[in-house]
Amino acid sequence: MLLRHTPTEVSERRSLTINPAKTCQPIGAMYAALGIRDCLPHSHGSQGCCSYHRSTLTRHYKEPVMASTSSFTEGASVFGGQSNLLQSLETIFSVYKPRVVAVHTTCLSETIGDDIPQIIAKAKEEGKIPDGAFVIHANTPSYVGSHVTGFSTMVKSMVDYFAEPKAPTRAVVADAGAPRLNIIPGWVEPADMREIKRIATAMGIQALVFPDTSGITDAPFSGRAEMFPAGGVSVEALATMGDARATVALGPTASAAAASALELKCDVPHETMELPIGLSATDRFVDALRRRGGVQVPAALEEERGQLLDVMSDMHQYLYQKRVALFGDPDQLVALTEFLMDLDMDPVYIVTGTPTKKFEDRIRHALKDRADRAKFKQGATADMFLLHQWIKNESVDLLIGNTYGKYIARDEDVPFLRLGFPVLDRIGHVYFPTVGYRGALRLLEKMLDLFLDRQDRDAPEESFELVM
Ligand code: SF4
Repeated sequence: MLLRHTPTEVSERRSLTINPAKTCQPIGAMYAALGIRDCLPHSHGSQGCCSYHRSTLTRHYKEPVMASTSSFTEGASVFGGQSNLLQSLETIFSVYKPRVVAVHTTCLSETIGDDIPQIIAKAKEEGKIPDGAFVIHANTPSYVGSHVTGFSTMVKSMVDYFAEPKAPTRAVVADAGAPRLNIIPGWVEPADMREIKRIATAMGIQALVFPDTSGITDAPFSGRAEMFPAGGVSVEALATMGDARATVALGPTASAAAASALELKCDVPHETMELPIGLSATDRFVDALRRRGGVQVPAALEEERGQLLDVMSDMHQYLYQKRVALFGDPDQLVALTEFLMDLDMDPVYIVTGTPTKKFEDRIRHALKDRADRAKFKQGATADMFLLHQWIKNESVDLLIGNTYGKYIARDEDVPFLRLGFPVLDRIGHVYFPTVGYRGALRLLEKMLDLFLDRQDRDAPEESFELVM
């Protein structure tokens, strides 16, 4: 009983977070930056921040995540980090030779008030940034927001720095072939980015997916140490995002800011929708691609949808009215809640530490007529301690969330589905998608395995069934 001190009685808390359901902004900025080809994320702060962010990403992806740091000491804390960043950029470009350095700030550099665009301009002026190379930045103090808002800020920065207004000649070329759409995938795994690209390609759409961590945080074993694995979206491709017919932004918290900025800058209309997790959300995603691209849905996708529906109806008896507690990131939680409702399950407790607009409205919408029966909360006191208290008061059949949920699952003897960030003690999340119809089928399989394993474990000998 590792969490045996969690009391059942829930008391009002206003300024205390216990076991937060979120992490640092810069981790998200670092993950987004890894989705640009030949990009080195750079942490403008002390070494400890960078080590923590790198190690969390490395443990989740089981890949060596590269990033550099301004390495603040007492001097930088007092006088500011300009000289550290200038020195860093000079060293990075001469030693590691990236195409892009994506600088994100940390609590300390934000508290000092370092002006990153001014420092980047000075580095350029002093010849520390080679021709054809770029330095972009995102402000990510961790005393506000979460890893998801840090991700969102860095993705918006890709638009701010790289998007170029529609060039007439480029537009003609872009219009010539398959319809071009931008897809901002949100904070999802590289496997999900691959799946999103597969669906778009199957529909005959030329999709620019950014950021794109496939090939980077799921790089194959090659026998060689590679500073910049061959994956990610290139600077040249990012420069053409203004030529697309439209942008489909997946996950309002992670992707809406970039899509709006692109519409403002390059007049590319955008549509923001929930992550395509589960049946209904995938239907809407596929329909958006169909409408925006002016294409037809291929039979192969309809077949995948049909297979998902088949399993949903075949296994309905094992899912019906199962009580579920969820924690994690808002975009995943909203889509997952809707999927659980599609499965006739009962999402009863939902918490996210990420502060985000309209979360409660979105959850209410996903919960439909069950909204008044469920407990859901966001923000600083929407933590795993509160979730555990709710579960102690009335238990659930399933807990869904990142690895940190294993303590609650063990203490309360609840089946546990690992999903979200970070997953530190299992593999699979990197390689198998949870988006699209195939992803939904995988989620369904994982949930069913948990329920049926539990049923096998608990069944008395006389009703231990071979066929279920
Ligand atoms: S909370 Fe702030 S100081 Fe701590 S690791 Fe995150 S960015 Fe660094």
